[in-house]
Amino acid sequence: MDVVSTYLTVTYCRRERDLLALPRQMLRPVIGVLTGHSQVQRHLSLMGLSNDPSCSYCSEAIETTSHYLCRCSYFAMQRATVWRKPFLDLADIDIVTIGDLVRFIKKSHRFSSSIQY
Ligand SMILES: [Zn+2]
Repeated sequence: MDVVSTYLTVTYCRRERDLLALPRQMLRPVIGVLTGHSQVQRHLSLMGLSNDPSCSYCSEAIETTSHYLCRCSYFAMQRATVWRKPFLDLADIDIVTIGDLVRFIKKSHRFSSSIQY
């Protein structure tokens, strides 16, 4: 096994273990952000539940889960609190832990209707 494969396997196992340890109410938003099947405007639009895929927080882009997680200016402060960076790049995704993702989701209150605190 090469270094990259080992890294990916360890990262995957760590994420799997951390996902399994989450409370049920956090599983839905976390899995939704990780898979893109979340209550963001783009996904709701594809499902015919919304007419506008634009981000309703910044109106600067289509609201995808990657826009929410990495680029939406509305959540820059919460992102900086968790990752010390207001915006994330694709290269940063590998360092996003499940714990960080939970903290960001909670701080952003983006999916608060499906999370009971
Ligand atoms: Zn936005």
